[in-house]
Amino acid sequence: SERDSLYIIMNFAKDHYRDLLMKSDEGKSIGLSYFRERGFNDRTIEKFELGYALNEWDNLTRTATGKGYSEDMLEKAGLLIKKDEGRKYDRFRGRVIFPVQNLSGKVIAFGARILTKEKDQPKYINSPETEIYHKSNVLYGLYQAKNAIRKEEFCFLVEGYTDVISMHQADVENVVASSGTALTEDQIKLMRRFTENVTVLYDGDAAGIKAALRGIDLVLKGGLNVRIVLLPDGEDPDSFSKKSGSTEFKKYLHDHTQDFISFKIGLYSKEASHDPIKKAEAIREIVASISVIPDPIKRSVYIQETSMLLKISEAVLFTELNKILIQDR
Ligand code: ATP
Ligand code: MN
Ligand code: MN
Ligand code: MN
Repeated sequence: SERDSLYIIMNFAKDHYRDLLMKSDEGKSIGLSYFRERGFNDRTIEKFELGYALNEWDNLTRTATGKGYSEDMLEKAGLLIKKDEGRKYDRFRGRVIFPVQNLSGKVIAFGARILTKEKDQPKYINSPETEIYHKSNVLYGLYQAKNAIRKEEFCFLVEGYTDVISMHQADVENVVASSGTALTEDQIKLMRRFTENVTVLYDGDAAGIKAALRGIDLVLKGGLNVRIVLLPDGEDPDSFSKKSGSTEFKKYLHDHTQDFISFKIGLYSKEASHDPIKKAEAIREIVASISVIPDPIKRSVYIQETSMLLKISEAVLFTELNKILIQDR
């Protein structure tokens, strides 16, 4: 079938990118040395099947068609871009390659990172949607993480490819990435097949905190228990795990994990402490998050905590909660 052909051609491309990384002069001197500079060892490079795409217009297309693959299939796989005027070129050129695997380890997409600092080029480019790749129901790293998630009974959620990879190298294997976007309902369902507990570990920058506040209600709504670890300002899991080393990093994660709703209450109560208007807004914001939690017992526990920390009666909070629950029914 066409799907099978797509799996086969993606596997071919993955092997080709890997050979280029390990064996070609350009791959070794540019791609492999880049990964080495980032501290990725051979075992890690092998485990994540990392690769390199030559800085040529059609290296993959030429190699693949030479082996009998059709341009049509390369295009359907998202590897070849064909323009109306008849121009055609490989999608991934002069970049290091991060294959994305499905649950059974088959390659379904690629992410590709630029190595230079060209201003007009995006840092990462990714495969488009294809018949075997639907971005909204894939979590990067899940294939490599699934046994560890079952064993640890929770999963870290990070933003980027390199965060997943560096955490493995720091001996933390229960980790997946949303790849820079807010989680979707399908991704949450996918995660639920392995655990009910997720610990969000977003970048320690304004964007990371904003993403957590914006996107996490959907995760709560999916019935998952959400915890959060804040990283020092300017660090992401990749940079911070390297700076700290495995032992320190794991200790940091352990010591800084807090419940997400409690984190939110703390954040807002700080902002709102002396301003009644802000305090009212904060209360609504927190109760809104609590209202999406499917389990009424958990909701009630959080209402108690909010009541204590924000010094407002449980009755008032329950009234507000019930208003939202009735509206949304
Ligand atoms: P690196 O450490 O290699 O610089 P990162 O993962 O820390 O990468 P971020 O800028 O924190 O990069 O972005 C997080 C994730 O968002 C990336 O791993 C990638 O999946 C996605 N992303 C970032 N920039 C882009 C882009 N320009 N286009 C598409 N996706 C992107
Ligand atoms: Mn970031
Ligand atoms: Mn980052
Ligand atoms: Mn990074």
